[in-house]
Amino acid sequence: MNFERLITPRRQVRGDCFSYKDKHTWRRLTDYSYSIYMQLKLSSPVTEVPRVGPAKAKSLKRLGITHARDFLYTFPRRYDDFSRVTPVAQLRAGEKMTVKGKIKKTTSNWGFRGRQRLLRIFVDLADDTGTLAITWYNLRFLTKQLWQGRELFVAGTVEENTGKGAKLAKFRMRSPAIEFALKPGEQTHAARITPVYPETQGITSRFLRYQVKTLLPLLSAIPEYLPAPIRQRNRLIEIHTAIRESHFPSSSDSLKTAQRRLRFDELFFLQLAALVRRRHRLKQQARAIKRDAVLEDNFTSSLPFELTQAQQVATTEILDDLTKTAPMNRLLQGDVGSGKSVVALAAIHLTLSAGHTVLYLAPTEVLARQQAADFAAQLGQQRVALLIGALSKADKNKIKQRLASGEAICVVGTHALLQGDVSAPNTAFVIVDEQHRFGVAQRSAALGRSASKNITPHLLSMTATPIPRTLSLTVYGDLDISILNELPPGRKATQTKIVPPSQHDSAVIHILEQLHAGRQAYVIAPLIEQSQKLQVKSAKETAVEMTKLFPDIAVGLLHGQLTSEEKAGLINNFAAGAIQLLVATSVVEVGINVPNATVMIIEGAERFGLAQLHQFRGRIGRGEVQSHCYLFPTTDKDAVNKRLQILTETTDGFKIAEEDLKLRGPGEAYGVAQSGFGDLKIASLLDYAMIKLARTEADQLLADDPTLDQHPILKGKVEQKNLVTHFE
Ligand code: ADP
Ligand code: MG
Repeated sequence: MNFERLITPRRQVRGDCFSYKDKHTWRRLTDYSYSIYMQLKLSSPVTEVPRVGPAKAKSLKRLGITHARDFLYTFPRRYDDFSRVTPVAQLRAGEKMTVKGKIKKTTSNWGFRGRQRLLRIFVDLADDTGTLAITWYNLRFLTKQLWQGRELFVAGTVEENTGKGAKLAKFRMRSPAIEFALKPGEQTHAARITPVYPETQGITSRFLRYQVKTLLPLLSAIPEYLPAPIRQRNRLIEIHTAIRESHFPSSSDSLKTAQRRLRFDELFFLQLAALVRRRHRLKQQARAIKRDAVLEDNFTSSLPFELTQAQQVATTEILDDLTKTAPMNRLLQGDVGSGKSVVALAAIHLTLSAGHTVLYLAPTEVLARQQAADFAAQLGQQRVALLIGALSKADKNKIKQRLASGEAICVVGTHALLQGDVSAPNTAFVIVDEQHRFGVAQRSAALGRSASKNITPHLLSMTATPIPRTLSLTVYGDLDISILNELPPGRKATQTKIVPPSQHDSAVIHILEQLHAGRQAYVIAPLIEQSQKLQVKSAKETAVEMTKLFPDIAVGLLHGQLTSEEKAGLINNFAAGAIQLLVATSVVEVGINVPNATVMIIEGAERFGLAQLHQFRGRIGRGEVQSHCYLFPTTDKDAVNKRLQILTETTDGFKIAEEDLKLRGPGEAYGVAQSGFGDLKIASLLDYAMIKLARTEADQLLADDPTLDQHPILKGKVEQKNLVTHFE
């Protein structure tokens, strides 16, 4: 029901001052809606909540609010501290302030904003020290509540009053928050630390504040689910206070303690889920693969280089995991070029020699081909096969047959490996390269493909997007981690420069010099075709331009619309030096390895995430020659380009990843948006100390109560978050 409509007959709007009678109408209705609120439950759908009609319900859904309880769990995005009241005489333009005063005069008129009718309400609000001019727009319901002499609070940004009334009122506020409750403790919108909620079309913070406040009594239906000892040990306040105070904090200190409790909760659930998954995994059966000193030595000495210290450590960790009867679930993190493949290869070699199948999942066909070729060179053609969509049906079937028969081969493939008709019962080991390119479902499909009855393969995920340790403890909390934190010797860190449009020429000259010296270069562009909307050069345009600029240089154009064969052909030509300058879209992001390429230009650099730019950059700096990366943002604006600065300062992928995480949040930066982690409401995935705390507590709790049967509410929460599928 729309109460605002009900109490605002059109004719009353015109009056200059609003009648006292309206006050009583308003009161009665408020009491009536309270009686409806009293009947609500946490589980009531939003449509039963007063002032929520079908349109509002739809908008609320966008904020994730579908039931009454969701109002309570939709936490403010930020807070405005409107708790201190400032006398009008002491207002300062440009600041957010609160004023308490009496209405001296109210007028309103209808104007236009574009073609839309616009109701403007003007109020002169006076305290002992002066008068403040206020304008509200389109808040028709307000007209009924602003009568002369009424005392109220307003809070908002103070502006110099430039209008006609400047003589009377030096300052004005436009659309300030308004609060009628005069008693401290009863205030909702001003004269307090005011919550500002995530807003969406048709849903204002004011509306949400009103709803949350009115629904607060429902809190009593939420049980305290955190065991008392955990709360005491960690000085965590109880859940009701925490929720209430994070909506309507009574002080900034109490807000902090409230948020601390909620942050702990979220991280605690994540940790519980991660540890439960881990416990479940450790009960599974895997094929144990014995280590073999002779074999391992032979492998290492067959390599054209010495393994770095970090590679040796990671190899040992992985090979040790393989010896266990519980399946490995390990993440190998290493910056681009840190040499992850050879670490994987050592483990593949051992597994094949033990007579089992290995599946290697690569994110693109280009990469699968390259990886398969590299592996075949090391392991022998006989032991490596490629399975990608571009193969003929007959070729695919041949490989599927080899897999089905349990041959000890390593099959490198793309999503084609995940098709339902692939079955590889003798698989002992699955590797997922650039794992963030695959969804959770795909990763488990890879495992499923290979599982013969009761056997779970060992899983090694690899990523060149360094994952900040806070994330690896939460989102990837059930994984063991190996890190390659050094590059093979002799590499020179790529030098990176931000080149605004006005300085492009000098960079282009440098490229030309390099090309003439026999080096190769990449140019990355965000789009294939030109776009009307975006002021950014497309890959096609860039390729044409480069051909004109460098007529004697062979230019290639690589993008996602090419067939897999075309792509592979281009990359082969580039690797062989037949193409000197490769213009590409983001398809080059992962894995391509051409050490002679030493220069890179990234067009429209500001359109990419930091971690992605770092990935691109990893395509160069792979040889012994100094490499250069030029970021070409489309603008000279410092503000835009500042974000890119960190890339010029460090080549430490972890630092860049932390920065990326801060700037874009976990969903964007790590593709975890759909996996249930993107909606962390309060928890900071950067809060390392809190994560550790939550992990320790979760570990201890599970040690005492592995199935969480003694903590049914907690169990329900963990299950409900869909983070755990097995409790056993
Ligand atoms: P990434 O971690 O990005 O997947 P790769 O495994 O593709 O890196 O390795 C990058 C390059 O470094 C390859 O050409 C590889 O042969 C080489 N490489 C790997 N390890 C070493 C090492 N210890 N010493 C010298 N070169 C190495
Ligand atoms: Mg790689």
